[in-house]
Order: sequence, then C-alpha cells, then structure tokens
Amino acid sequence: MKTENSFFEISDKIKAAGEAALKKAKAKFEEIDDIAEYNQQKVLSAFIRNKVSEADFAGSTGYGYGDTGREKLDRIYADIFGAEDAIVRHSFTCGTHTLGIALFGVLRPGDTMLCVTGTPYDTIHSVIGLSGEGMGSLKDFGVKYAQVDLGSDGRPDLAAIEKALEIKPKMVYIQRSRGYSLRPSLSVDEIGEIASLVHSKCDAVVMVDNCYGELVEKTEPTQVGADLMAGSLIKNAGGSIARTGGYIAGKKELVELCSYRATTPGLGKEVGCTLGENRNMFMGIFNAPHVVGQALMSAVYAAALFESLGFEVTPTSSEKRCDIIQALCLKTPETLIEYCRGIQSGAPIDSFVVPEPWDMPGYDSKVIMAAGAFILGSSIELSADAPLREPFAVWMQGGINFHSAKTAINLAADGLYKKGLL
Ligand SMILES: *Cc1c(COP(=O)(O)O)cnc(C)c1O
Repeated sequence: MKTENSFFEISDKIKAAGEAALKKAKAKFEEIDDIAEYNQQKVLSAFIRNKVSEADFAGSTGYGYGDTGREKLDRIYADIFGAEDAIVRHSFTCGTHTLGIALFGVLRPGDTMLCVTGTPYDTIHSVIGLSGEGMGSLKDFGVKYAQVDLGSDGRPDLAAIEKALEIKPKMVYIQRSRGYSLRPSLSVDEIGEIASLVHSKCDAVVMVDNCYGELVEKTEPTQVGADLMAGSLIKNAGGSIARTGGYIAGKKELVELCSYRATTPGLGKEVGCTLGENRNMFMGIFNAPHVVGQALMSAVYAAALFESLGFEVTPTSSEKRCDIIQALCLKTPETLIEYCRGIQSGAPIDSFVVPEPWDMPGYDSKVIMAAGAFILGSSIELSADAPLREPFAVWMQGGINFHSAKTAINLAADGLYKKGLL
C-alpha cells in the first residue's frame, strides 16, 4: 500500500498530527456524509421530477428562446431550495454581480436596505455605496442603507433588529457566511428566526447572501422564510463543474423583478442563450451535495490538525458548520504567507507559483491568495485567502476531493514546521 509519504515528503511530526486529526474528525465526517446523502437525494429527485434529458444540454444561441435546458435548470434550483422560482445563468459573472442584480432588482429610490448581520462582505460595499463614488451604486440611485451589528457573541442581535425595523426597511439583508470575519456563520434556523421576526413586524423583503452556505445543511434559507437569496456557481452550487455563473431563488414576483434587472424590463427570464453551458451547470448542481461534503471534510480536517498544533481555529473541529469556510488564526504575517504558499504548492494547477500579497480590487487591505484551481477564482476548489491585517487569520475553503485537499493541508502544515513557524 502506498502512503502519502511515497509521493510527498511530510515530516513525521505532521504525519502523526494528521492521523490524530483524522481520528478526531471521524464523528463529524459521519454527520457530513449523512447531510450529503440527504441533499443528493433531494437533488436527484429534482432532476427526475423535471425530466432532464440529453436534449436539454444542447444549448442555444442568440436570444435563446425556448431553451428547455435553461428553463428546467431554473425549476431544479427552485425545487432544491424550496423556492417558488429561480433564475440561474452562466452570464452572472460572480457572486457579487448576482447579489447586485438581486439588490438593484428589488430596491427603488427612497427605499432602505437594512443589513442585520454587521458589515457585509467587502465586495458588496461598492454595490451599496459604502465605498467608491460615482459608479452607480445603490446610494447613487437614492437607496438608503442601515445596519445592525452582530451581538458581542457574534450572533444576530434580535432585540436590536426588532428596534431597527421601526425605520420600515424595504429589505432586510442577511449574510449567512462569515466572509472575512471571525464571526460564526448563521445557521438556517437562525436565519429562520430573523425572517419570522421581520415578517411579524413589517412587510420587508428578507434577502440572504447565501454564498458558501448552499447544501451545507439539509434545508436552505428559502425554506424557513427568506424571500430571496443568491449565490455564486463557482462556489458550492456549481459543484466545481459550472464554469461561471450565479443563481437567484425565492418568491416568484421577486425573482421576476431580478430577471428584469438581469436582462431588461420586459424581457426578463424569457431570453438568454446558454451557449453550451447547460451541461456543466446541470452536472455542477448534481455533484454539489457530494463536493460540498468533500469541502466540509477538508475544513474539519484542517481545523482538527491546526487545533492539535496549538492554533486557534474557527469553527472548531467539532462545532456545527453552516458554511464551508474554515478560519485558522496563524498569529503572524509570516505564518500566513507561508501557509498560503504551502496550500498553493499542493494544488493540481499552478503548484509552482509562489503567491504574493497584493492590492486586490474590492478589498480594503492587501490580500494573499492560494488558488490552484481548474476554474479561475473557484473557491469550491481548495483555496486560501488571507487579508494581511489583524488578527492574521487565513480563511480557507473548498476541496473538490478530500484526499487531495488533505495532502495540500499537510504540505502547508509541514512547510510551517520546516520553517520553524510552529
Ligand atoms: C464570495 C462571496 C461573495 C461574492 O462572491 P464573488 O463570487 O467573489 O463575487 C459575497 N458574499 C459572500 C458571503 C461571499 O462569500
């Protein structure tokens, strides 16, 4: 039997720590497998119900009228997410673009968007108008913004949210994932609690940034009261196979409004050719439950390993997970940079490049990123990002198969050990 060490030189210390981490992770792995199986059946049944066939992969050109694949894919997403409708398009550039379409689709001049999970993800700031000027942000169009910070425990502050609803927001915005913060991600149950509170007090649209959260639990925000949610296809929902794109799912009339922003008023979802991307998008969502499971196992393994090496990690290896992100507090910029270089060195693509911190558009500080992915920027594939700012934490996510991700994580840990950084 070949061991990992036949191909990679990992020191005995890290090998032993890795074996201990696997033992520690076992119970969590079983839980992850149970959720993946449940979600796989959910997805398979949506495929069967919607009668997907080879002809749906043919793709369309031009206006894309009568593209049955496009229409069935929208239905499948709606079914999986327990939503009335969905719009899934390869032409949604990324998560930020998709969220932007949803925000501009629903909000009108004079409306207030109330974010109830603290400051949103960095790239959304310029969409809202919290940074940048004259780019046509929501603010430029007269949409107001208000925010409720998370409580000191990092959890939504329901009392403060209830009070803030007095300003009669048009939209209450919830970010499920932790993003580049050390707060816990929100569970679907917590999102449900916020949605119930909002719906009992006013008629605001509850919108969820669902990036990194899809298929991590057995239910989705739209099944517990969220009116609208959006995410990227080069994260969880695309299953590492969709080459680009995003989705919006939710109440029928809201998805329709978003479709008028995605194309134009009047055209909406009736147009939009798929150019041969359908097969990848179908295969992506089909594989997503399994791939998300692999990513979660990779995250749990990294948590368990770095716990044993004496670092603070969040979530811990035994905590409940609501997204695929794992933060490791590596204490110093040197450790951070070395860790990212180690992850890169174990990537299937671009293993030979050496990541450097850079001023990435949309982010407020220098960021170092390890990404050796088949799809540029895909973060359902193993990747690590670290803004070079306090508390010097690296946020890692993805791993389309556990065995490969585990090797990369071991290489990163071993790199730290060999440089005397452990
Ligand atoms: C990734 C992410 C986004 C933005 O998605 P991009 O595809 O990077 O544009 C927004 N919100 C959260 C929470 C994310 O994780």
